[in-house]
Amino acid sequence: MKQGRIKLLPDHVANQIAAGEVVQRPASVVKELMENALDAGADDIKLIVKDGGKTLIQVVDNGEGMNELDARMAFERHATSKINSADDLFHLQTKGFRGEALASIAAVAHIEMKTKTAEAELGTYIKIEGSKVVKQEPIATPKGTSIAVKNLFYNIPARRKFLKSVQVEMRHINDEFFRLALAHPDISFSLIHNGNTVYHLPKSKLLQRISNLFGSKMPEKLVPVEESTDYVKIYGYTGKPEFAKLKRGEQFFFVNKRFIKSPYLNHAILTAYEGLIKDKAYPSYFIFFEIDTEHIDVNIHPTKTEIKFDDEQTVYAILKVAVKHSLGQFNLSPAIDFDTRPDLEIPYEYHKKPPVDPQIKVDPDFNPFKEDDFGQPAKVSPLKMSKKLAYFESLMHESSETANELAKDIQHQDPAFTGMDNQFDLVSFQLKQKYIVTRRDERLLLVHQNRAHINVLYHKLLAQLQKENIPSQQLIFPVELQLNPGEISSLREHRDKIIQMGFDLKFEKESVLVEGVPLQLQSQAVADIFQEILETLQYENPDKISNIDEQLALIIAEQSAVKTGQKLSEDEQQNLLKDLFELQQPRYTPTGKKVFISLEPESIDRKFDL
Ligand code: ADP
Ligand code: MG
Repeated sequence: MKQGRIKLLPDHVANQIAAGEVVQRPASVVKELMENALDAGADDIKLIVKDGGKTLIQVVDNGEGMNELDARMAFERHATSKINSADDLFHLQTKGFRGEALASIAAVAHIEMKTKTAEAELGTYIKIEGSKVVKQEPIATPKGTSIAVKNLFYNIPARRKFLKSVQVEMRHINDEFFRLALAHPDISFSLIHNGNTVYHLPKSKLLQRISNLFGSKMPEKLVPVEESTDYVKIYGYTGKPEFAKLKRGEQFFFVNKRFIKSPYLNHAILTAYEGLIKDKAYPSYFIFFEIDTEHIDVNIHPTKTEIKFDDEQTVYAILKVAVKHSLGQFNLSPAIDFDTRPDLEIPYEYHKKPPVDPQIKVDPDFNPFKEDDFGQPAKVSPLKMSKKLAYFESLMHESSETANELAKDIQHQDPAFTGMDNQFDLVSFQLKQKYIVTRRDERLLLVHQNRAHINVLYHKLLAQLQKENIPSQQLIFPVELQLNPGEISSLREHRDKIIQMGFDLKFEKESVLVEGVPLQLQSQAVADIFQEILETLQYENPDKISNIDEQLALIIAEQSAVKTGQKLSEDEQQNLLKDLFELQQPRYTPTGKKVFISLEPESIDRKFDL
């Protein structure tokens, strides 16, 4: 018989492929191992990590353990003790159910496990390398399970190479640890990294757990949320509006104690804060949903951070009102007028009324790992992208005349506006305290004052930084920043850069004291600025350390620039224009926003049909 082309993959290859889905990075291993410990009924879980998980990830639990046979079975694909039939999928009470995690991890790492049940006298030791059991023997060990995963991706160099720095991998591990520790305050957890105990969390109530994780000042910044209906029970805490952060806050949703991401429900919360927080601010929240397992489907996402409710709109409506109530009850929001806001009645009559369609699109392809993982989309710095983007935008929205002009710009650095003697007409005035109107040669210029200033400050800061540290001014009243341990260590890590930027920092146990700020910095909002800096350091661009100057300069420039609505003297206008047109790139801000528009005489003529 002629041999066909189709062959079954050998097991170890199939396992490696499957591992790709489950094991993205050390943090995924952490999540799977800790979830297994929780499923095993442990009430004390230790996570021991070395080198951001690249060398070692070990989870020690005091759960039910495994007997000799199960210890071996556990590493087989689709081996699970958690479901017996497909029907069980609709009543899941456990975190795991696919029976894939251990098999996948075993395919791409070295594993050593010790485990013992309560009844057994001796436990089992098992050692596995690349899916193969290389050793198994009885061992004296306490009840429970200890699994050590070493040298992750040792047999897939391409993936090992793509692991990020220790700090970045540790940040992801930290995120997973936080999610599980928050979901289970009644269980004690510790996290030990390179021999240092980073967290030791005793069993406690939720608020205490939040405080242990985010710092002792955190509880004061929160109000409780509580709402019970037949369909869903909601509880937890949400942040007082005045503590909303400038960027991504501490935002957590848990459904039946499982952390989930939901842009849709996040939108419900943001709506509840409408009018209470600044446009760009993000409230913190720790929201728990308890819902009958019949109403949810957790099986839609390989890493299970997404969940489907059978009636998502109801959850949306109830959540929104619950949060609004809490904010209102604590006198934090303007009185809620139930007569004029029919949408607020929904939780009490939600079965009668169709809930209002919320205005948000949920991306069905949403993949939390996409941005920062293998096969990364080309990370073009927005600073460099901006011009092209503006060009394409202009092609879509503006006359081709502007597009052509921009096209020229992209090739030559704004020939019309750079390198010329800076001769303005010395005529300028402000329009709506937003634009500066002036003339240059024959052109009429409309300059966005805030963006112009951002552009100028940004480039000045960077130029200055090339030569020296940015000079610092001492604050008469140093500002104390209450930070969580993760934030403090992030600042420590980048301390030198931040000092070069002109900040003067003093580190204390649960806080950081800002004693000086860059000379240029006009803003009083030191705490806000640091919130932004932290967000940038922790999330936005953790790998582009080389770019951190640009990021910091941008934050300072944005905070210090003249704002819309600010009156400028004629001198101030002229100085700003002069500085702006000395730049190589006056036309766009570092983030690609248009700084000015110019009107040629011809196009003015055309408007007059001339
Ligand atoms: P799943 O969790 O989806 O069942 P896993 O591959 O994570 O799949 O684990 C396979 C099986 O191994 C589990 O069903 C469980 O019976 C057993 N197991 C794994 N980790 C532990 C642990 N820490 N304590 C006790 N049993 C465990
Ligand atoms: Mg599992």
